[in-house]
Amino acid sequence: MSVLGDYHTHTVFSHGHGSIEDNVRAAVSLGLKEVAITDHGFWHRFYGVRRMDLQSMIAEVKRLREVYPNIKIYLGLEANIVDGNGRVDIEDEDDEWMDIMVCGYHKCTHTTSAKELLTFGLPNFVSGITKFSSKQIVKNTDAYIKAIENYKIDIISHPNYGIKTDVKEIAEAAARKGTFLELNGKKVSMTDAEIESILKTDVKLIVDSDAHSAEKVGYFGVPLSYVTRLGIPTDRIANFDKLPVFRRYNDSNR
Ligand SMILES: [Zn+2]
Ligand SMILES: [Zn+2]
Repeated sequence: MSVLGDYHTHTVFSHGHGSIEDNVRAAVSLGLKEVAITDHGFWHRFYGVRRMDLQSMIAEVKRLREVYPNIKIYLGLEANIVDGNGRVDIEDEDDEWMDIMVCGYHKCTHTTSAKELLTFGLPNFVSGITKFSSKQIVKNTDAYIKAIENYKIDIISHPNYGIKTDVKEIAEAAARKGTFLELNGKKVSMTDAEIESILKTDVKLIVDSDAHSAEKVGYFGVPLSYVTRLGIPTDRIANFDKLPVFRRYNDSNR
């Protein structure tokens, strides 16, 4: 009984401390069958992957697939939802190389316009100081649902981390599209009641480390403590004793 893959890890190409190979080597040594490199999306003001680095990342993953044939290596991004219309910070051309797409909300991303800065970026940014209005929660939820509908998102990272949404509504949209909701390896930001509400939908969950260093790759202690404590059936966890089928990868010809 174990988690077979880690689909959310960072490297020096964004906010992580190690190389792509460090993460792959760590995953191999733990006996994982699959690992994904998902550095922060391009519009993050401080940690976003630089487009100029993309080709070397692609080449490195290609090389590592030869060196470590016993593990499947996905290259993707942890993309950002950057406005209230569910705009995500990737372009059509990224479909050509992107195997997997984790996506979530992060403070400190660029947004699409001054209006979106005022109605989405700033109100969510100051959330630690003020309370989320019910109007903002509706807007945020709508942004997530539009993102899930308009982009091939495989995993919604850390729901309700740094933002407030109606996670049950997001789970319903995710279930319709085959997008997984993450129980994050660093922190689960949903309340117990919220987790119980999403389990009433057909959504599948996934546990990831969100490792920012190789030592944290494959560390699932936090999410698995929720699985145990709340009695989440393990057949609801897409990477528990089985390998997930990702909508993006499945639709591509890779
Ligand atoms: Zn994140
Ligand atoms: Zn992350």
